[in-house]
Amino acid sequence: MRSIAERAPGSEVLERLRRALNVDWRRYTALVAERSGEGAFPVLVGVILSQNTNDRNSIKAFMNLKERVGVKLSDILEASVNDIAEAIKPAGLWKQKAETIKAAAEAINALGGEKFLLEEDPKRLRETLLSVRGVGAKTVDVFLSVVRKAPFFAVDTHAMRIALRWGLSDKRSYDRVSRVLLEYFGPGNAEEAHRLIISLGRTYCTARSPRCPECPLTDICPSSLKL
Ligand code: SF4
Repeated sequence: MRSIAERAPGSEVLERLRRALNVDWRRYTALVAERSGEGAFPVLVGVILSQNTNDRNSIKAFMNLKERVGVKLSDILEASVNDIAEAIKPAGLWKQKAETIKAAAEAINALGGEKFLLEEDPKRLRETLLSVRGVGAKTVDVFLSVVRKAPFFAVDTHAMRIALRWGLSDKRSYDRVSRVLLEYFGPGNAEEAHRLIISLGRTYCTARSPRCPECPLTDICPSSLKL
């Protein structure tokens, strides 16, 4: 099977997705920038809250937490896990996420706090964050790509499914899919491509019944040609 990369460059796929999908990914970036104004740690909190839920619920949980507890590293260090959990209920899995946020705050504080998040070598920072219980590769890669502009491509369930359908990987391996998507779209486009692929996965390339005939990539996608 010829992969999508052999049929069209990443820049063309990106352009087609931009035109077909109404994704205001800069709004998301602006939200991150606003959080960054309070520090890198609040951005990490936002990414943890966004696990397994939609933007609306995770933003609501973030705002609740900001109002009741605070989202800065110092606020979380002082708060109890229960207080954090109560505030973030709209995000779902609130007990688990509260423990993760607290554990991340303690680990980061022990290594130098905000300075550690902003200045540590991205690869070493990635390893450290991955050692915090509840923090997975996707969470860390979103954080590193938006805050540190580091070359990591975050792979969620949509990106995994779509990369396999595009023939970019024949294995469901996080690291491999992350690497091929990064190579295909280029490090400078990783953040936008990540958001566009999520939108493609929600609208056309759904898990059960992909809408290939209407998909903007139908003439270059190897899975479409097989249908
Ligand atoms: S053509 Fe079909 S399989 Fe390919 S990306 Fe579009 S919806 Fe997914």
